[in-house]
This record gives sequence, C-alpha cells and structure tokens, in this order.
Amino acid sequence: MENEKEFDLRTMEDPYKEKKYVLTDEERAASKFGKLVFAFPQENNEIVAEGDPADYVVHPQAYFRGASQIPGSEFNQSYQIFVKPFFLDRVQHRHAKDEFLVFLGASFPNVFDFDAHIEFTIGKGEEAETYVIDKPTIIRIPAGVYHCPLNFKEVNKPVLFLATLFTPMFGGVYDLPDGKTMEMYYNGPVPCKYNPDKKCDSCGKCLQESWENK
Ligand SMILES: [Zn+2]
Repeated sequence: MENEKEFDLRTMEDPYKEKKYVLTDEERAASKFGKLVFAFPQENNEIVAEGDPADYVVHPQAYFRGASQIPGSEFNQSYQIFVKPFFLDRVQHRHAKDEFLVFLGASFPNVFDFDAHIEFTIGKGEEAETYVIDKPTIIRIPAGVYHCPLNFKEVNKPVLFLATLFTPMFGGVYDLPDGKTMEMYYNGPVPCKYNPDKKCDSCGKCLQESWENK
C-alpha cells in the first residue's frame, strides 16, 4: 500500500464520536439503513413429520428468513442445535441456487468438539453417493443437484447445523413418492408481514420490497 506510512490504522479514532443512534422502532422506521438491521425472532420449528418428537433440537431456534426480513436478501439461513438423533430430510430435492450445509460442534466455545454420525446423500439414482459426516464439515450443493436424505443418526454431543440457500426464500423442487415433482416454498412459522393475524403462507409478495425507505 502506497499510503502505508501516512496512516496508522491501529490508532485511528472513531470518526462518529457524535453518533446518530437508532434505538427505537420509530427511529428505525424513519432511518436510511434501518431495514438492513434485523433482530432474530425466537422460532420454534414445526414438526416436520407426523409423530416426530420435537426435542431433537434446542428451543428456540434462530432462522434468517431472507428477503421477507431484510428486503433484497438473496439468501436464507437456519441456525439449529441438534441434541438427539433425527431423520431431518427424507425427500430428495434440488434448488434453483446453491445451498451450503454446515455441521459444527455446539459444545461451545470449541466448534471442533464433535461427536456425531450424520448421513447425507448427494445425487440421484445410480449416481447417488452417501457421505458420513463425523467431523466439522461444510457441503456445497450446486444449483440443480439432487440431495438428501439427511439423517442425524447419532448425536453424542450437540451439533450446530446451518443450512444456507442463496434464494430470497427457502424452497425447492421435491420428488414425491408417487413419482411427481412439486415446487415447494417455506418461510417459517412467522406471521404475515402485512397482516400479523395471518400466518405466512410463503406467497412471496414481501420479497418485492426494497431495503430503502422511499
Ligand atoms: Zn436442500
């Protein structure tokens, strides 16, 4: 860097000593960047399969529901801590964009303290391959590539699981047992952004919003 000698970043002072704090909901609504700062709501996952107990995961969980929460976001992400074996995702599917799955130890603060046996299949039919996750791992699933089942078979220590999908809302194309395919979207058990008395039905209307106050 040419200016190396003119600056010492270690001693640079905060240029905003006279801070313009955004503290209240009213200030946030009137602010320029307020829609970019979102506090996670506490969520409790809905039972995925009939009869499954919900205590495989720590309650509550945090989820980032993408563009419905921060307008313009091109990704959504889950943050769950698994504490018991659970067959999470049985149905093969694919997505329009890349998905990343992260498995880390949740015996904080050491994320490498990992003791679980998780099985995950990538590909479909004859090309399908099943991987065993028994150490901290990240998996990329390129757009259009079939994946799952995902089975947390043994969970001897808590596992932090993050699923990140680079679309404004979670969704994909699922291969149903009857041979048909179905496009499905899921935005969580959250209220509708426009009508708090209504449950979100993943209609996608709020995905058109801008992060800017206009
Ligand atoms: Zn997926």
